[in-house]
Amino acid sequence: MPTWLRDAVPFAIALLLAAALYLLRQPEWSLAVLALTLIAAFAYNQWMLARLTSWAALPSRRDLTRRGVSGASWSEAFERLSRGYNTLKSESEALRTELHSVHTAVDKIEDALVVLDKYSHIEWSNQQAQELFGFIGSAGLHRPIHHFLRDPRFSDLLDNQFHAKAGHVQTMQISLHNRPGAIFQLQLISGEHGQQLLIARDITRQAKLDAVKSDFIANISHEIRTPLTVVSGYTETLLDLDLEKGEQRKHLETIRKQSQTMQNLVADLLTLSSLEHSIDDKTETNVDVTRLFADIEQEARALSAGQHLIQFKVEHPASIRCSADEFASAVRNLVSNAIRYTPKGGQVNVSFKFDHRVGRISVEDSGVGIAPEHIPRLTERFYRVDRGRSRGSGGTGLGLAIVKRIANRHQMELEIKSRVGEGSTFSLVIPAGRILFPQSDASRQLALA
Ligand code: ADP
Repeated sequence: MPTWLRDAVPFAIALLLAAALYLLRQPEWSLAVLALTLIAAFAYNQWMLARLTSWAALPSRRDLTRRGVSGASWSEAFERLSRGYNTLKSESEALRTELHSVHTAVDKIEDALVVLDKYSHIEWSNQQAQELFGFIGSAGLHRPIHHFLRDPRFSDLLDNQFHAKAGHVQTMQISLHNRPGAIFQLQLISGEHGQQLLIARDITRQAKLDAVKSDFIANISHEIRTPLTVVSGYTETLLDLDLEKGEQRKHLETIRKQSQTMQNLVADLLTLSSLEHSIDDKTETNVDVTRLFADIEQEARALSAGQHLIQFKVEHPASIRCSADEFASAVRNLVSNAIRYTPKGGQVNVSFKFDHRVGRISVEDSGVGIAPEHIPRLTERFYRVDRGRSRGSGGTGLGLAIVKRIANRHQMELEIKSRVGEGSTFSLVIPAGRILFPQSDASRQLALA
């Protein structure tokens, strides 16, 4: 039976009763029954409406109880409202949980995020943005973003964005007074209904890397251009002029020397790049210092061509656990430098000893020496104290950078001591863990002492 028909039953009964009383010539009673029925219906409906109004007016609505509700229509209305409200309540609970997770996740993002309304007033921001721009809690809300980011270029960015379509992106780099030395990239993205998303990202590291990279490329270009100019100049001379044999030979010798410089440069660049990009998965072996010294001594004597007094000395015979090629290349670089920067008749001493629980390979020369202000920068790529002297002796400016990286990969230290005009000592300090003494050797006891 439909609800309205069920609700009509008491009225029908009252009407029948009133009609019966009227027919029994009791018109007063008949009228009284009709009046009582109307009053009761009116009072009941008012009560039900009052219950609903007071429930709806509660700030956090309690469950809608159906106790005392009779009548099919009211029961159904209460039932539907209660069901609808409970569905809404659980949906909003789920939304709140989701929003909380989104906020937690957004606060973990390293970038600062700010949502702006169409007038560039702050609508929402994450924790990073609050810290970066100094918004204090909700005090920052609804204030114009340019109160916190005072930069005319940023104001121009906001003006341009005003009429932009959704999805339009503008970027700029900026430094902020409260983060001295840091560089930030700002991204302004247009959203729907004039809203904008501002993203600020710290790109200091990337910017520095870019600067280093472009410096490096400029340096390489410069390093290659010099010998290349010489080679092409001399080649043209040889082609254009009909020179004497002796003169031709002199020019060819220069071309050969410059080509060698370029070859050295390419070889050093490749070594450096493989040291910087290869992960620490090098194969390590035990390298016998005496044997290593013997090999390098031969090369040193060939390079010196009898112009220096050269001495190699192993005070404590031992092996070093290392990548053999890399370690030999580090020592070879130091020895070659000692010979190249020591004038004719000078002395070069190379030694290995174990002292104060560390191993030490020292390359000491009586050469030109280095002023103190240059020492901290010697291991930078292409840093040279005397450009002419370095180039003249076939230097690439990369030798010590290579040595330093090899030392780092082996947890070794590169120590540099020098005095201008007196000479220099370059030492590789090797951790005890990398040194192995022969079982029978007395210096083993020394090592363990
Ligand atoms: P280069 O190829 O120019 O020798 P390195 O990286 O090996 O490049 O060395 C960097 C600079 O350090 C050299 O240009 C030189 O000025 C200085 N240097 C290196 N070793 C010595 C040394 N034993 N005596 C004096 N100066 C040195």
